Amino acid sequence: MRNEVIFHSEALEKEGNTLVQMGFRCDACGKTSYPVYELCPFCSSGEGSKTPLSNTGTLFSYSVTRVPVGPFKPPIIAGYIDLPEGTRVFGQIRADVKAVKTGMSLKVETGTIWTEKDGTEVIGYYYTPCGKEKGGAE
Ligand SMILES: [Zn+2]
Repeated sequence: MRNEVIFHSEALEKEGNTLVQMGFRCDACGKTSYPVYELCPFCSSGEGSKTPLSNTGTLFSYSVTRVPVGPFKPPIIAGYIDLPEGTRVFGQIRADVKAVKTGMSLKVETGTIWTEKDGTEVIGYYYTPCGKEKGGAE
């Protein structure tokens, strides 16, 4: 039997067989934050509810690490992705380094982000290009 753990257990929830990123929508100011906090980081209200986040966004900024970090092999691309609801999410981007540009469309995916020595698969989220760029494949 395959052993799995979710790396961002507070940030991902199962909906059927799919893992979904969950944010917090504040009833007082209407803003959405990620991950889920006890109090709204914008207005400190505790009134609100968990809400599934949009699965596509726009790359705000990114950096490339060219040395191995823990289980990750270089080049490691990490960045901030702006979602339509106004939430900025930090995540790893799996793409050809040369194809990554600020402003590009990305979609979230979930899957194995690394495998432990005992075979346990660590499940998390990452972003991949949407293929909506000029000249990109659909
Ligand atoms: Zn608020």
